[in-house]
Amino acid sequence: MFAELTAAALDLVLPIACTACVAPGSVLCAQCSTALSGPARRVAPSPPPPGLPPTCAVAAYGGVVREVLLGHKEDGRSGLARPLGDALARAVLATLPGTTPPAVGGRFDAGAYCPSMVLVPIPPSAAARRRRGDDHALRLARRAAWALRGVGWPAYAAAVLHHVRAVADQGELDAVARARNLAGALRMRRTVGSAPASARVIVVDDVLTTGATLAEAARALRAGGWSPTAAAVVAATTLRRGSGPIVTRVD
Ligand SMILES: [Zn+2]
Repeated sequence: MFAELTAAALDLVLPIACTACVAPGSVLCAQCSTALSGPARRVAPSPPPPGLPPTCAVAAYGGVVREVLLGHKEDGRSGLARPLGDALARAVLATLPGTTPPAVGGRFDAGAYCPSMVLVPIPPSAAARRRRGDDHALRLARRAAWALRGVGWPAYAAAVLHHVRAVADQGELDAVARARNLAGALRMRRTVGSAPASARVIVVDDVLTTGATLAEAARALRAGGWSPTAAAVVAATTLRRGSGPIVTRVD
């Protein structure tokens, strides 16, 4: 919370500038926002971790996209949740090929509310929450759900997962070490009941790297009786890191 307040206070004092190119006027300028406007595609790390649901992304991780995601996650620039959440919503829609929104006329009818899509964000570790001051993934999921409701999908974000033990920072770990680091680290909250029978449960995150985090979240949901059908992220890394075979296939 403190970090978010600090960032908000700085936004009041300093002129608003694009997170990526520092052009004045907005938190993300029109030119840089095109980095998030590409078509959503199916992506898969190689090798895929066991249990990873089919996953879609709208961008490759790097350049402007990296700057924007880091600005939102690490610098508390909450205004970026809007363009990032809208991009995430398109990735969610890409996991549903051939389906149409259930609402008549393409508009969300609040009077006939039927939760048909539940977006489950990856929870921050206790250390990350302390460092960042808030839950950036939940903020992103809420904005994506809002955008989905705008195009007729009754959707909401549900922070139903939590960490049951400390995990190491994933940044320096290869695929095998990441999977080991995260195995059994997440669990559904005790207070969460069963998912609505007709709901699609979709795990969402900002970045796909080895897929270990999404796979662990899907495992925890299944262990809690939910059935995640897909996963969606804003960006997928396509880089090799160290000895880890982190290569994302884009269909
Ligand atoms: Zn820019």
